[in-house]
Amino acid sequence: MPEGDTIHKVALALQPHLEGAQLTFLTGRGWGFRPQLEGVRVERIRAEGKHLWIDFAGCLSLRTHLGMGGTWHRYGFGERWRRHAAYASAWLRTDTCDVVCFDAAEVEIGPRLHLAPSLAGRVGPDLMHEAPDFDRIVAGVRALQGEHTTVGEVLLDQRIAAGIGNVFKCELLFKHALSPYAPPSLLGPKRWHALYRDAGSMLRANLPRGRRVTVAPGARHGLARLWVYGREHRPCLRCQTPVARTYVGAQNRPSYFCRRCQYRGDPQASPFSSHTETYRDVQSG
Ligand SMILES: [Zn+2]
Repeated sequence: MPEGDTIHKVALALQPHLEGAQLTFLTGRGWGFRPQLEGVRVERIRAEGKHLWIDFAGCLSLRTHLGMGGTWHRYGFGERWRRHAAYASAWLRTDTCDVVCFDAAEVEIGPRLHLAPSLAGRVGPDLMHEAPDFDRIVAGVRALQGEHTTVGEVLLDQRIAAGIGNVFKCELLFKHALSPYAPPSLLGPKRWHALYRDAGSMLRANLPRGRRVTVAPGARHGLARLWVYGREHRPCLRCQTPVARTYVGAQNRPSYFCRRCQYRGDPQASPFSSHTETYRDVQSG
Protein backbone atom coordinates (compact mmCIF):
# COMPACT_ATOMS: atom_id res chain seq x y z
CA MET A 1 0.00 0.00 0.00
CA PRO A 2 1.55 3.34 -0.97
CA GLU A 3 2.15 5.97 1.67
CA GLY A 4 0.11 9.18 1.61
CA ASP A 5 3.13 11.08 0.35
CA THR A 6 3.28 8.77 -2.69
CA ILE A 7 -0.08 10.03 -3.93
CA HIS A 8 0.89 13.65 -3.31
CA LYS A 9 4.07 13.01 -5.28
CA VAL A 10 2.03 11.47 -8.10
CA ALA A 11 -0.22 14.54 -8.10
CA LEU A 12 2.78 16.89 -8.22
CA ALA A 13 4.36 14.86 -11.03
CA LEU A 14 1.21 14.77 -13.15
CA GLN A 15 0.08 18.37 -12.65
CA PRO A 16 2.47 19.99 -15.18
CA HIS A 17 1.52 17.45 -17.86
CA LEU A 18 -2.23 17.28 -17.33
CA GLU A 19 -3.56 20.40 -15.67
CA GLY A 20 -4.94 22.69 -18.33
CA ALA A 21 -4.43 20.06 -21.06
CA GLN A 22 -7.23 18.87 -23.32
CA LEU A 23 -8.06 15.19 -23.37
CA THR A 24 -7.96 13.47 -26.72
CA PHE A 25 -8.86 10.05 -25.33
CA LEU A 26 -10.03 8.59 -22.06
CA THR A 27 -10.88 5.05 -21.12
CA GLY A 28 -10.41 2.46 -18.40
CA ARG A 29 -11.18 -1.02 -17.22
CA GLY A 30 -14.24 -1.78 -15.11
CA TRP A 31 -15.93 1.62 -15.41
CA GLY A 32 -19.66 1.47 -14.89
CA PHE A 33 -20.05 4.84 -16.60
CA ARG A 34 -18.06 5.93 -19.64
CA PRO A 35 -18.41 9.65 -20.22
CA GLN A 36 -17.52 11.43 -23.44
CA LEU A 37 -14.67 13.64 -22.25
CA GLU A 38 -12.65 13.95 -25.45
CA GLY A 39 -11.90 17.65 -25.97
CA VAL A 40 -12.53 18.44 -22.31
CA ARG A 41 -9.86 20.17 -20.25
CA VAL A 42 -8.27 18.70 -17.12
CA GLU A 43 -8.90 21.31 -14.46
CA ARG A 44 -7.12 20.05 -11.38
CA ILE A 45 -5.21 17.08 -9.96
CA ARG A 46 -5.29 16.65 -6.21
CA ALA A 47 -4.44 14.07 -3.59
CA GLU A 48 -6.77 13.37 -0.74
CA GLY A 49 -5.15 10.89 1.56
CA LYS A 50 -4.41 7.91 -0.65
CA HIS A 51 -6.99 8.89 -3.26
CA LEU A 52 -5.97 10.73 -6.40
CA TRP A 53 -8.61 12.98 -7.91
CA ILE A 54 -8.54 14.26 -11.46
CA ASP A 55 -11.16 16.97 -11.89
CA PHE A 56 -12.32 17.72 -15.41
CA ALA A 57 -13.82 21.02 -16.54
CA GLY A 58 -17.51 20.72 -15.79
CA CYS A 59 -18.73 18.45 -13.03
CA LEU A 60 -16.95 15.16 -13.66
CA SER A 61 -14.01 13.65 -11.79
CA LEU A 62 -11.93 10.51 -11.84
CA ARG A 63 -11.01 9.04 -8.48
CA THR A 64 -8.41 6.30 -8.08
CA HIS A 65 -7.00 4.42 -5.09
CA LEU A 66 -3.89 2.40 -5.87
CA GLY A 67 -4.36 -0.26 -3.19
CA MET A 68 -1.40 -2.62 -2.80
CA GLY A 69 -0.23 -2.96 -6.39
CA GLY A 70 -1.45 0.02 -8.37
CA THR A 71 0.84 2.49 -10.10
CA TRP A 72 0.75 5.56 -12.36
CA HIS A 73 2.89 5.81 -15.50
CA ARG A 74 3.42 8.70 -17.89
CA TYR A 75 4.61 8.12 -21.43
CA GLY A 76 5.60 10.57 -24.10
CA PHE A 77 3.49 10.44 -27.25
CA GLY A 78 4.29 7.22 -29.13
CA GLU A 79 6.60 5.89 -26.36
CA ARG A 80 6.45 2.15 -25.72
CA TRP A 81 4.52 1.24 -22.53
CA ARG A 82 6.12 -0.93 -19.86
CA ARG A 83 2.78 -2.62 -19.09
CA HIS A 84 0.06 -4.03 -21.31
CA ALA A 85 -2.95 -1.80 -21.93
CA ALA A 86 -5.18 -4.62 -20.65
CA TYR A 87 -4.05 -3.71 -17.11
CA ALA A 88 -4.95 -0.05 -17.47
CA SER A 89 -7.51 0.95 -14.86
CA ALA A 90 -7.54 4.46 -16.30
CA TRP A 91 -5.91 5.86 -19.41
CA LEU A 92 -5.83 9.56 -20.28
CA ARG A 93 -4.29 10.88 -23.47
CA THR A 94 -3.46 14.47 -24.38
CA ASP A 95 -1.65 15.90 -27.42
CA THR A 96 1.71 15.24 -25.79
CA CYS A 97 1.45 12.23 -23.48
CA ASP A 98 -0.34 9.15 -22.21
CA VAL A 99 -1.01 9.00 -18.48
CA VAL A 100 -2.00 5.53 -17.34
CA CYS A 101 -3.04 4.09 -13.99
CA PHE A 102 -2.37 0.36 -13.80
CA ASP A 103 -4.01 -2.08 -11.41
CA ALA A 104 -5.83 0.42 -9.21
CA ALA A 105 -7.75 -1.10 -6.33
CA GLU A 106 -10.52 1.44 -6.88
CA VAL A 107 -11.37 3.54 -9.88
CA GLU A 108 -14.49 5.57 -10.24
CA ILE A 109 -15.60 8.24 -12.67
CA GLY A 110 -18.67 10.40 -12.41
CA PRO A 111 -20.06 13.66 -11.11
CA ARG A 112 -17.80 14.97 -8.31
CA LEU A 113 -20.72 15.53 -6.01
CA HIS A 114 -21.79 11.93 -6.39
CA LEU A 115 -18.32 10.53 -5.85
CA ALA A 116 -17.33 12.56 -2.83
CA PRO A 117 -20.04 11.46 -0.41
CA SER A 118 -19.10 7.81 -0.97
CA LEU A 119 -15.83 8.68 0.78
CA ALA A 120 -17.49 10.25 3.79
CA GLY A 121 -16.32 8.42 6.86
CA ARG A 122 -13.64 6.59 4.87
CA VAL A 123 -10.92 9.23 4.83
CA GLY A 124 -9.88 11.17 7.90
CA PRO A 125 -7.98 14.49 7.92
CA ASP A 126 -5.07 14.43 5.47
CA LEU A 127 -1.75 14.53 7.32
CA MET A 128 -0.07 16.11 4.29
CA HIS A 129 -1.98 19.33 4.89
CA GLU A 130 -0.23 22.10 6.80
CA ALA A 131 -2.65 22.06 9.73
CA PRO A 132 -4.68 18.86 9.94
CA ASP A 133 -7.47 18.77 12.52
CA PHE A 134 -5.59 16.86 15.24
CA ASP A 135 -8.48 17.12 17.69
CA ARG A 136 -10.71 15.35 15.19
CA ILE A 137 -8.03 12.70 14.66
CA VAL A 138 -7.66 12.01 18.37
CA ALA A 139 -11.44 11.96 18.79
CA GLY A 140 -11.53 9.39 15.99
CA VAL A 141 -8.98 7.23 17.76
CA ARG A 142 -11.02 7.34 20.96
CA ALA A 143 -14.19 6.44 19.08
CA LEU A 144 -12.63 3.24 17.72
CA GLN A 145 -13.55 1.40 20.92
CA GLY A 146 -11.19 -1.50 20.66
CA GLU A 147 -11.59 -2.07 16.92
CA HIS A 148 -7.81 -2.47 16.59
CA THR A 149 -5.47 -4.40 18.84
CA THR A 150 -2.29 -2.38 18.24
CA VAL A 151 -1.21 1.25 17.88
CA GLY A 152 0.23 0.35 14.46
CA GLU A 153 -3.15 -0.75 13.15
CA VAL A 154 -4.71 2.53 14.28
CA LEU A 155 -1.98 4.47 12.45
CA LEU A 156 -2.79 2.59 9.23
CA ASP A 157 -6.52 3.24 9.57
CA GLN A 158 -7.17 5.89 6.90
CA ARG A 159 -10.57 6.73 8.42
CA ILE A 160 -8.76 8.22 11.41
CA ALA A 161 -6.11 10.16 9.46
CA ALA A 162 -5.09 9.83 5.85
CA GLY A 163 -1.51 9.34 4.76
CA ILE A 164 0.34 6.81 6.93
CA GLY A 165 1.40 3.64 5.14
CA ASN A 166 3.41 0.73 6.45
CA VAL A 167 6.84 2.35 6.06
CA PHE A 168 5.95 5.42 8.09
CA LYS A 169 4.02 3.28 10.59
CA CYS A 170 7.19 1.33 11.40
CA GLU A 171 9.31 4.45 11.56
CA LEU A 172 6.85 6.28 13.82
CA LEU A 173 6.64 3.37 16.24
CA PHE A 174 10.44 3.32 16.41
CA LYS A 175 10.74 7.06 16.99
CA HIS A 176 8.17 6.88 19.78
CA ALA A 177 9.73 3.76 21.36
CA LEU A 178 6.48 1.85 20.83
CA SER A 179 6.48 -1.93 20.41
CA PRO A 180 4.53 -3.19 17.38
CA TYR A 181 2.44 -5.06 19.98
CA ALA A 182 1.60 -1.89 21.94
CA PRO A 183 -2.18 -1.73 22.46
CA PRO A 184 -3.99 1.52 21.60
CA SER A 185 -5.03 1.88 25.26
CA LEU A 186 -1.39 2.51 26.16
CA LEU A 187 -1.60 6.05 24.81
CA GLY A 188 -3.58 8.97 26.11
CA PRO A 189 -4.79 11.88 23.95
CA LYS A 190 -1.58 13.89 24.30
CA ARG A 191 0.54 10.99 23.06
CA TRP A 192 -1.79 10.37 20.12
CA HIS A 193 -1.61 14.06 19.33
CA ALA A 194 2.20 13.94 19.39
CA LEU A 195 2.29 10.77 17.28
CA TYR A 196 0.07 12.20 14.54
CA ARG A 197 1.83 15.57 14.60
CA ASP A 198 5.10 13.76 14.05
CA ALA A 199 3.51 11.69 11.28
CA GLY A 200 2.44 14.88 9.49
CA SER A 201 5.95 16.36 9.75
CA MET A 202 7.50 13.13 8.46
CA LEU A 203 5.13 12.92 5.49
CA ARG A 204 5.52 16.57 4.54
CA ALA A 205 9.31 16.47 4.89
CA ASN A 206 9.35 13.61 2.40
CA LEU A 207 7.21 15.28 -0.23
CA PRO A 208 10.06 16.98 -2.15
CA ARG A 209 12.33 13.92 -1.88
CA GLY A 210 12.61 11.10 -4.32
CA ARG A 211 13.50 8.49 -1.69
CA ARG A 212 12.03 8.36 1.78
CA VAL A 213 14.23 9.53 4.62
CA THR A 214 13.31 9.45 8.30
CA VAL A 215 16.78 9.32 9.86
CA ALA A 216 18.05 12.80 10.77
CA PRO A 217 21.20 13.69 8.80
CA GLY A 218 23.35 13.95 11.95
CA ALA A 219 22.23 10.53 13.16
CA ARG A 220 22.70 8.80 9.82
CA HIS A 221 24.81 5.69 9.86
CA GLY A 222 26.26 4.60 6.59
CA LEU A 223 23.65 4.79 3.87
CA ALA A 224 20.63 4.04 6.06
CA ARG A 225 17.72 6.34 5.29
CA LEU A 226 15.15 4.61 7.48
CA TRP A 227 15.44 3.60 11.13
CA VAL A 228 13.94 0.12 10.92
CA TYR A 229 11.78 -0.44 7.85
CA GLY A 230 13.27 -3.13 5.60
CA ARG A 231 16.31 -3.51 7.87
CA GLU A 232 15.65 -6.98 9.31
CA HIS A 233 18.78 -8.62 10.85
CA ARG A 234 20.77 -5.40 10.43
CA PRO A 235 21.92 -3.55 13.57
CA CYS A 236 19.61 -0.95 15.05
CA LEU A 237 21.01 2.50 14.26
CA ARG A 238 20.64 3.48 17.90
CA CYS A 239 21.61 0.41 19.96
CA GLN A 240 23.04 -2.17 17.49
CA THR A 241 20.42 -4.83 18.42
CA PRO A 242 19.45 -6.70 15.22
CA VAL A 243 16.21 -5.31 13.79
CA ALA A 244 13.38 -7.87 13.91
CA ARG A 245 10.29 -8.36 11.80
CA THR A 246 6.88 -9.48 12.97
CA TYR A 247 3.33 -9.66 11.69
CA VAL A 248 0.66 -8.36 14.00
CA GLY A 249 -2.96 -7.43 13.58
CA ALA A 250 -5.66 -8.28 11.11
CA GLN A 251 -4.01 -6.37 8.26
CA ASN A 252 -1.05 -8.74 8.32
CA ARG A 253 1.48 -6.08 7.36
CA PRO A 254 5.12 -6.59 8.37
CA SER A 255 6.38 -4.55 11.30
CA TYR A 256 10.13 -3.98 11.51
CA PHE A 257 11.30 -3.06 14.98
CA CYS A 258 14.07 -2.97 17.55
CA ARG A 259 13.03 -4.93 20.61
CA ARG A 260 15.39 -2.94 22.83
CA CYS A 261 14.48 0.57 21.67
CA GLN A 262 10.76 -0.12 21.23
CA TYR A 263 9.93 -1.31 24.71
CA ARG A 264 6.71 0.61 25.36
CA GLY A 265 3.82 -1.81 25.25
CA ASP A 266 6.09 -4.84 24.68
CA PRO A 267 4.29 -7.78 26.31
CA GLN A 268 7.67 -9.48 26.93
CA ALA A 269 9.19 -6.51 28.75
CA SER A 270 9.67 -7.33 32.41
CA PRO A 271 7.40 -5.28 34.69
CA PHE A 272 10.50 -4.67 36.85
CA SER A 273 12.70 -3.58 33.99
CA SER A 274 13.97 -0.04 34.10
CA HIS A 275 12.61 0.30 30.60
CA THR A 276 9.04 -0.25 31.71
CA GLU A 277 7.15 2.91 32.43
CA THR A 278 3.68 4.19 32.50
CA TYR A 279 2.99 5.91 29.23
CA ARG A 280 -0.47 7.19 29.81
CA ASP A 281 -1.51 10.80 30.00
CA VAL A 282 -3.12 12.01 33.17
CA GLN A 283 -6.52 12.62 31.57
CA SER A 284 -6.50 9.65 29.22
CA GLY A 285 -9.51 8.12 31.03
ZN1 LIG B 1 17.62 -0.27 19.11
